[in-house]
Amino acid sequence: MKKHNYSAGPCILPQEVFEKSAQAVLDFNNSGLSILEISHRSKDFVAVMEEARALVLELLGLEGKGYQALFLHGGASLEFLMVPYNLMRENGKAAYLDTGTWANSAIKEAKHFGETLLVGSSKEENYSYIPKDYLIPSDVDYFHCTSNNTIFGTQMKTFPQTNVPLVCDMSSDIFSRKLDFSQFDLIYAGAQKNMGPAGVTLVVVKEEILGKTGRTIPNMLNYQQHIAKESMYNTPPVFPTYVSLLTLQWLKNKGGIAAIEKVNETKAKLLYTEIDRNPLFKGAAAKEDRSFMNATFLLENPAHQETFDALWKAAGISGLNGHRSVGGYRASMYNALPLESVQVLVDVMQDLESKV
Ligand SMILES: *Cc1c(COP(=O)(O)O)cnc(C)c1O
Repeated sequence: MKKHNYSAGPCILPQEVFEKSAQAVLDFNNSGLSILEISHRSKDFVAVMEEARALVLELLGLEGKGYQALFLHGGASLEFLMVPYNLMRENGKAAYLDTGTWANSAIKEAKHFGETLLVGSSKEENYSYIPKDYLIPSDVDYFHCTSNNTIFGTQMKTFPQTNVPLVCDMSSDIFSRKLDFSQFDLIYAGAQKNMGPAGVTLVVVKEEILGKTGRTIPNMLNYQQHIAKESMYNTPPVFPTYVSLLTLQWLKNKGGIAAIEKVNETKAKLLYTEIDRNPLFKGAAAKEDRSFMNATFLLENPAHQETFDALWKAAGISGLNGHRSVGGYRASMYNALPLESVQVLVDVMQDLESKV
């Protein structure tokens, strides 16, 4: 039986994407070849890469606005250093918002390239909220933030107005909600949270911000090189890129980001309403900053853990344990998770209430 998959990443993808991917492994486009054995320079794969890059910009509303979409190797973690390498001047300075583990990793990598200025941090409260009212100096090379904190279950609802390039790690909420994406100069996301399988990373960058650092950048780490080679500087992650394209096509057919945002809101509301109503549970993150993708919550009484765990496992739920740094539970409700799966979880929470 298919599980209700709440895994934080890699995570659930649409069932039809699994089926089409499986078919492409056996016979890609009726070519008599598996997608795993074709050249990345073949006509069929070049078409995949072109469509995937174009569809990203279309779904984000960034067509014709000077942006390029790239499908790269290395995960979001490589972008932690590619961003400063490509945007920070020699002896330059960048501003960072410290909202959790991933933001911290980004800051650590940037320190190899120049000065990092922490404009705000919620570390002392174990990252349970998003700092607000921080100031971004106008002399920094860029400002970096994390739109959704996958581990702590917080999400930025607004983004600062600033005259410096705005860089955002959107690994765990890209394509989940409507935003004015043109306010960002660079967006990156590991595919495995809301877009595809592990192994490919999406970078969306406004071309005009590149080439200004005075640094010599090795080709593999240079966004301009990847743009010039149309995201095929070396062999791209062929299969993960194809699966990402299938997920983007699925999203477009569903009505795009505006349509999925409504579903995501309904799912999040259903679960958070139960967390707040049910006396056995409490939310882990500040209410106004709650993530619609990763809901973190705790049992009021840890003695109920064994019973609760047995109930959700029996209901076919998988991947509900919280990250070790937060404990408790984390329900990751990415685009592909159906509303019915959230209802199953809410039913289990009510079942626990009736049993203890
Ligand atoms: C998972 C995650 C990362 C790390 O992604 P990798 O692709 O494993 O390097 C970075 N940032 C955020 C917000 C994440 O959720």
